[in-house]
Amino acid sequence: MTLIKQLFSCFIKFDSLVLTYHKNTKTMHKFQLPQLGYAYAALEPYFDRETMTIHHQKHHQAYVDNLNKALEGTASEADNLLDILTSVSKYSSAVRNNGGGHFNHTLFWEILSPNPKTVPTGKLADEINAAFGSLEELKAQIKNSGLGQFGSGWSWLYVKHSGALAIVATPNQDNPLMDTQSIGRGFPILGVDVWEHAYYLKYQNKRADYLDAFWSLLDWSVVEQKYDTVIAGLV
Ligand code: MN
Repeated sequence: MTLIKQLFSCFIKFDSLVLTYHKNTKTMHKFQLPQLGYAYAALEPYFDRETMTIHHQKHHQAYVDNLNKALEGTASEADNLLDILTSVSKYSSAVRNNGGGHFNHTLFWEILSPNPKTVPTGKLADEINAAFGSLEELKAQIKNSGLGQFGSGWSWLYVKHSGALAIVATPNQDNPLMDTQSIGRGFPILGVDVWEHAYYLKYQNKRADYLDAFWSLLDWSVVEQKYDTVIAGLV
């Protein structure tokens, strides 16, 4: 199995990708908004119900709709999302922005939980200690990366193609999968949305407080699962 296939199978909730049929019976993919695994109010008091509702129903839905619109009627309309993102330089900016937006938010919802595993264990914990010295140092670096992203973007923990863990911030809806990244390519296993729409209603301009709150919701069991699957495809 190729690395890309391994990575593809690692993207757990790929129920967002379904086969549908055009009226002319031509087979195509149509991306759909994934269901959340918890209620909009379940992440209170860290992430508020109103922000979660708008973020999922309006922002993420718009990325899905605009991605479908950008691909409809083109030769690329049956392409899968991972293939699109890993060769995104060949696509329009609308596909890059909305395909990134769909992938990034799907990952974000997956790694949040009202009852999270609060510390990593196993091989991921060992690798975090080896690469960053401690979990606290990793958290500090992800926070600083998110604070240092001017304007909208994301802060990521990702697995480089070499298998090493690394942290990077990306603008807009970019992510480390994209071939447009001059530094920091690999597979994201943890991402924090630092667009103002992710936090402004509750935290206003206090991005740092929002980034601190994120750790109370991050489910390390999901990050471990992603890490283990990515690593399995690399060795
Ligand atoms: Mn967002």
